[in-house]
Amino acid sequence: MIWICATCAVETDDLPEPPDACAVCEDERQWVPEQGQRWTTVDRLREAGTRIRVEAVEDDLWGLRAEPEVGIGQQTMVVRVPEGVLLFDCVGYIDDAAVELVRSLGPALAVASSHPHMYGLQTEWARALGDVPVLVAAPDAEWVRRRDPLVELYDEQRQVAPGLTLHRVGGHFRGQAVVEWTAGAEGRGVLLAGDAVFPNPDRRSMSFMRSYPNRIPLSGNVVQRVAGQLEALHFDRLYNNFGTAVPSGAKAMLRRSADRHAAWTRGDFDHLT
Ligand SMILES: [Zn+2]
Repeated sequence: MIWICATCAVETDDLPEPPDACAVCEDERQWVPEQGQRWTTVDRLREAGTRIRVEAVEDDLWGLRAEPEVGIGQQTMVVRVPEGVLLFDCVGYIDDAAVELVRSLGPALAVASSHPHMYGLQTEWARALGDVPVLVAAPDAEWVRRRDPLVELYDEQRQVAPGLTLHRVGGHFRGQAVVEWTAGAEGRGVLLAGDAVFPNPDRRSMSFMRSYPNRIPLSGNVVQRVAGQLEALHFDRLYNNFGTAVPSGAKAMLRRSADRHAAWTRGDFDHLT
């Protein structure tokens, strides 16, 4: 049986009984419910009425969400280039209708995730889509809970197809990765950022955290390193792992936000506190 953590939705190895604990949730960047660790399965979720809603995000980009939410509740991004499609940040659920829909968009090239909180049912999806590779940034290999021959490690970057590339940027996780899609946003470029950077509710800034739920900050140095690496990529629009968008000007917003983060963590504004 493949078990799914009810809190983070990361799949396990094929095991007769669920593990005692979820290593992803026990880490300081996540959390275990007060009532203790809980597990579910695809069958149980289906019996509870879970389904996958698909919506068009922009030309050649779709978002998949499980309803009701499973785990953290991310939106899987399905990006299409002429060679086929990439699934990024797989939800912790799968059903035949959603698989059929993804298959209708083009041949699957790979599945990948921004970081371990978003692994979801990535291997189950990869199998359903014809045994495509599950691309994992090598520094995060220890977090893969379902070891499988489809898992392929990469180091700094991995081109999925021309104009569609995974880049490891680190920060939130050592293997934190983003997708650079150069044809997105009518050719101005799209960054699928996961939560390497996270657009804020003010729609004018982004934040950078080691842990979002437990509010553990990153240093200014790390944030400037991540921002510097991202600035070299081709993008004007950004989406995070819940589908929140910065429709345009994302690179300038990133620069302002990284400088602000560095200034606050350096103590430039201590006189305001
Ligand atoms: Zn978990």
